[in-house]
Amino acid sequence: MQRRRTMSILLGPPGSGKGTQAKRLSAALGIPAISTGEILRHECQSGSTVGRQVERVLASGQLVGDELMNEVVAKRLSQSDCEYGWILDGFPRTLAQAQFLDRLLKGQDAGFPAIFDFFLSEKELVTRLGGRHECVQCGRIFAGLAPQCDIDGSPLVQRADDQPKAIRERLRIYRQNSGKLVRFYRRRNYHRIWAARAPETISQDLFRLAGVERNEAGGKYEPLVLASPSACA
Ligand code: ADP
Repeated sequence: MQRRRTMSILLGPPGSGKGTQAKRLSAALGIPAISTGEILRHECQSGSTVGRQVERVLASGQLVGDELMNEVVAKRLSQSDCEYGWILDGFPRTLAQAQFLDRLLKGQDAGFPAIFDFFLSEKELVTRLGGRHECVQCGRIFAGLAPQCDIDGSPLVQRADDQPKAIRERLRIYRQNSGKLVRFYRRRNYHRIWAARAPETISQDLFRLAGVERNEAGGKYEPLVLASPSACA
């Protein structure tokens, strides 16, 4: 049996639930979910030179430069755990990043990813972002006011960029770029995902579109495995 390579890009505004769905799809397909926001936040915590440079950009809600982001993503996608595919959450965010990724994949003759574009009303987004807190230890997101992380008991904090001013800026930048990204991708393998539904319902849509097969016996989703040409012969 030969494993299929699955590449997915999750587009959509901050707060639309891309991170949650990326992790679920990652578990179902056995491929990494790559969040560029998470990579940058780790870099900040490490106190590296790059981390110190991007810290202020992140807190303001602005975007980190395309050149740095392209380099970060190219390096991450070249790692061995991406052999059977990947899920990108938070990249590309600009047309220049999308064009870069296109060139990178063409160069590798890697085929083309499926695009899942999450959408949600602006009112709902502001409510969600303003109310969310994350665990300082494991990064799990909590929608309401929980006293502590229910996994490791660590304190919860609000992300610096979830303050009202930064939220408005992130949404403004999202609006500025999203039209160009949609025009770039819409004639490809492009799907709109209505993100105001229960997470489980969204996962079902996403899994079906991404080719995750339901294991009827256990009711569990399994990665799609294709028979190799020799096995079919
Ligand atoms: P959200 O989608 O909720 O804004 P992320 O964790 O995806 O959160 O990103 C947090 C921040 O990291 C962004 O506001 C931006 O400053 C930076 N960032 C993440 N991905 C990119 C990217 N592809 N290009 C530029 N900046 C990025």
